[in-house]
Amino acid sequence: MSFAASVLTLYPEMFPGALGLSLAGRALQAGTWSLETIQIRDFATDRHRTVDDTPAGGGAGMVMRADVLARVIDHASPPGDPRPRLLMSPRGKPLTQARARELAAGPGAVIVCGRFEGIDQRVIEARALEEVSIGDFILSGGEPAALVLLDAVVRLLPGVMGNELSGEEESFENGLLEHPHYTRPQEFEGRPIPEVLISGNHARIAAWRRAESERLTQERRPDLLAAAQGLTK
Ligand code: SAH
Repeated sequence: MSFAASVLTLYPEMFPGALGLSLAGRALQAGTWSLETIQIRDFATDRHRTVDDTPAGGGAGMVMRADVLARVIDHASPPGDPRPRLLMSPRGKPLTQARARELAAGPGAVIVCGRFEGIDQRVIEARALEEVSIGDFILSGGEPAALVLLDAVVRLLPGVMGNELSGEEESFENGLLEHPHYTRPQEFEGRPIPEVLISGNHARIAAWRRAESERLTQERRPDLLAAAQGLTK
């Protein structure tokens, strides 16, 4: 069974975008996953096909209407659809490699892309949307965030990555950042490749990589080490 993504958006032209190329694009063509975009505006009912309105309580910007979104969500994901319903949102739980793996193991995802100031809280609750953030910064819309999420998920689908093993050693898979990489030439602008890596001693190489992983994680992401040791705040 292939992974089925449905993206609800005001800008369907943004898809598949980057996901039409390289690994994800080949997998899309091969049918390893599918991508459907649904134009939210098609579910507006008034003459002007309005999808947003001014915020209750006043203030800047516009808010996407609950009734229009509920209709498009019900169309994309009728009762019984086993796929999780995600809303790209800076207020969501930060996306992790673990969540990407869970999603890749499932039947797909229905992804709502916000625009303007965001969407009416009532539809988030009424349709049990899981809010997912891709980081602590504000994008102008959920589309780039959906592309990022799908990229992270699709590369984990069986058969998508050439070398299946390469996924298991990567940053975050074991709670650590990955060790540095080197390739030819042996010397670059006076900098040699670390001697251990050309020693041919696989045990020493593994130990060096592990030590580098730990050193980098300690230096750059002590929060990951703390989490790995169960010391999360
Ligand atoms: N006013 C909102 C930001 C709205 S940005 C706030 O302050 O929280 C418009 C849309 O872009 C959002 O509805 C969401 O779908 C998307 N978006 C923006 N930043 C995002 C992020 N870091 N992760 C995921 N989606 C994001």
